[in-house]
Amino acid sequence: MIEARDLWKSFGRKEVLKEVTLSVGKEVHALVGPNGSGKSTLIKCILGLLKPNRGEVKLFNERPEVGRKRVGYVGEKLGLRESSALLVELEVYCELKGCNWDEVKEVVDAWGLRPYLKERVRDLSTGTKQRAAIARSLLGKPEALIWDEALNGLDPEWRSYALDFMKEFSKRGPVLYSSHVLEELEEVADKVTMIENGKVILSGPLWELLYGDPVELFVLSPKGRIREVIRKDE
Ligand code: ATP
Ligand code: MG
Repeated sequence: MIEARDLWKSFGRKEVLKEVTLSVGKEVHALVGPNGSGKSTLIKCILGLLKPNRGEVKLFNERPEVGRKRVGYVGEKLGLRESSALLVELEVYCELKGCNWDEVKEVVDAWGLRPYLKERVRDLSTGTKQRAAIARSLLGKPEALIWDEALNGLDPEWRSYALDFMKEFSKRGPVLYSSHVLEELEEVADKVTMIENGKVILSGPLWELLYGDPVELFVLSPKGRIREVIRKDE
């Protein structure tokens, strides 16, 4: 269970999160919102990588610094060491997580990385690097996933594979992921939270957001961008 209550975060005078409350159970929960709206900041606060000015986070009922060991995280910046061979990078992380070699083999094969094991991270293509970060996040048998735009750069086949993976994972544990690809929400997301300027403007089960009464609807443009938010009771 991922729980954030009444989070506020400022950088200097800039308020980036305002009164953000979010809870993720065994579901795929999508975090959407324009560039700079605060998604990554929220995710970092949830993981205890940033300290909020106010509010509380619990990961599996523990402090984020403790609970995050049970979370598979893919950050926007990936955090892979560019000069390492992929294999070494995975091995080092595996050791850190106390997992065994079979587990590495399993994620390597599941994410199509075997042909690239000897390559340096910096020489991998964007999508392969992304898959490497995803695979790494899965070492140590995480009980929740927090993926910040982890599907960026994946080709349609891998994107669809990753969506299926999240859906399957969510039967066992919470999945929080941020994305700009709104077309896929209907396919994968059980719940959606939309933030704008650091504030939650919509949150709930997708069907409720799309069709519910009397809650909000969002109107998608043909390209899937949120064009308009309509509150039915207005
Ligand atoms: P994107 O869709 O581009 O990934 P985002 O929703 O993840 O955007 P954040 O990265 O959380 O947005 O940034 C939210 C705001 O906080 C932005 O205005 C950004 O400039 C600011 N910000 C983020 N990190 C810092 C920092 N370390 N110091 C100062 N400002 C920051
Ligand atoms: Mg971001």
